[in-house]
Amino acid sequence: MSPINFCEIVSKMRVKRDKRDDIFSKMIRVRDGYYCVKCGVKHEETSTGLHCSHNVPRRYLRLRWTPLNAISLCFACHHWYGSEPYESGKWLEQYLGKRNLKLLLTMKQQKLKITKAVKEDIYTILKDDRENQLNQLEIGQVYQLRDPILELLKHGKL
Ligand SMILES: [Zn+2]
Repeated sequence: MSPINFCEIVSKMRVKRDKRDDIFSKMIRVRDGYYCVKCGVKHEETSTGLHCSHNVPRRYLRLRWTPLNAISLCFACHHWYGSEPYESGKWLEQYLGKRNLKLLLTMKQQKLKITKAVKEDIYTILKDDRENQLNQLEIGQVYQLRDPILELLKHGKL
């Protein structure tokens, strides 16, 4: 495949990112220790070669900022993931486990009204979690990222 085709495929995959996506992407890469979870290659913190890849596509807002729905993949593995749906699906089932995969698919069906106000609440939770994550990292602890939508549901805000 020529490099031109390759770029075209990647650009088609792109969805307009917002401030939530930016912070979420950082959190996922920190969670994964800057490793590509598929091939195991480590990246620099500043590298643009490690992507936050969504298992269920970003257009499903329910799962767009759900940590379980995102993994760190390098450019090559992200491309493989997008172009080999059968193989990558099998791999994902192994990586996440059948139970988690089923959970994701159930959440994908959840119909929720994600308004502008809800999006702001999501941003607040993400910012808070990002801080928690960095604080825990500083003392050598692993922080379990929260699912912002689940938090809002729990508190009757959605
Ligand atoms: Zn990789």
